[in-house]
Amino acid sequence: MNCEIICVGTELLLGDILNTNAQYLSRELAALGIGLHHQQVVGDNPDRMRESISKALAESDLVILSGGLGPTADDLTKEICCEVMDEELVLDEEILQGIKNYFSSKGLAMPENNSKQAFVPKKNGIVLKNANGTAPGCAVEKNGKIAIMLPGPPRELIPMFENEVKPYLAKKTGGVILSKQVRTFGIGESDMASRVKDLLNGENPTVAPYAKDGEALLRVTARAENEEKAARMCDEAIEKIKQRIGKYIYGIDCQSLEEKAVELLKKADKTLALAESCTGGYIAKRITDIPGASSVFEYGIVSYSNEVKQKLLGVNAETLDKYTEVSEQAAAEMAQGVRKLSGADFGLSVTGFAGPDAASDGRPAGLAYIGFSCAEKTQVRELRTGKNAREYNRYVAASNALHMLIEYLSERNDKE
Ligand code: AMP
Ligand code: MG
Repeated sequence: MNCEIICVGTELLLGDILNTNAQYLSRELAALGIGLHHQQVVGDNPDRMRESISKALAESDLVILSGGLGPTADDLTKEICCEVMDEELVLDEEILQGIKNYFSSKGLAMPENNSKQAFVPKKNGIVLKNANGTAPGCAVEKNGKIAIMLPGPPRELIPMFENEVKPYLAKKTGGVILSKQVRTFGIGESDMASRVKDLLNGENPTVAPYAKDGEALLRVTARAENEEKAARMCDEAIEKIKQRIGKYIYGIDCQSLEEKAVELLKKADKTLALAESCTGGYIAKRITDIPGASSVFEYGIVSYSNEVKQKLLGVNAETLDKYTEVSEQAAAEMAQGVRKLSGADFGLSVTGFAGPDAASDGRPAGLAYIGFSCAEKTQVRELRTGKNAREYNRYVAASNALHMLIEYLSERNDKE
């Protein structure tokens, strides 16, 4: 099966929004082993949409469209695509009622415009449920071709693809499709890729590397007759991956470092406190992004000035004089200080130069010291990102702090 993506929306052509749906869909299709040969972006213009869709359907078996399912007059994807495929649209009373309920649950009456979203393909299509908005998607199958129409907002499109489109495509290609993500930290994407090189050429399961925010990830996807078999195929591939890069793996199928950190803290029934300088509360933000963090997180201090480092955290004046506030020694004292002050089991600290400029003493942006303290020891990790990017440096410093905690808690788990 070969595929083409068409993203619809004049706002994409004007550069008002970034075409993240194209990236998401491309990546998902690659993981499913479906060949993607073309991508198009077309504005909300009926003639040009007609032309784009006709061309795509002539060249590809499967065309996935995003956007233009909204209630306004310029949202035309369903109307034009069904016209090109010669498929009639009819009003679905049940969907209409669902849209009305959506509005009434917010204490509003449904605007008349929205009723157009309740029209669905009459004979040769299926409806794709939208759990996060009013516009359902749909798929039309005709003359050996399939068109799948999805809503534009990523928060609607992504769950619809996961929950509705994937099972639909699995049925078309025979079987179930299952993906698992292997998350690593501390290894670069190309180093990781070269160590699992042979696995990257497989067709089923597929193994695809990608990098995100200083982390390297592997997505393992298997296609099989049933879920059990697909899971087994994924697990076998993951076992091989573990043999090659096991020490860098911090989680399988978890969402983030912060999720893993909170999970491990809960499991160990331990608490955490933070002393953040250059990250300015970033670790606290990421920890508190996770539901249920309150049971493991005491507090964080944004100890930006040296005065606060001394007064609140008890960092020694001599330490600051001798080694400066961006030093292994300062990071260690900050982590110990906040742990004692809070009574938490663990203290984490970060002190560094976020950039974009180098420090006044010539040390580079992206240099940071990350401290970890618990009852039995205090450790410091030196980070050198080599980048002048302030946001990146802060994010990666926060990630390293979370990772030090995960590493400690995972080792503890392994021993038990
Ligand atoms: P639409 O379904 O065309 O009315 O799109 C509704 C909203 O979805 C737009 O205003 C954008 O915020 C978002 N959106 C549409 N297409 C894309 C896309 N290709 N990538 C990311 N966001 C999109
Ligand atoms: Mg639109």
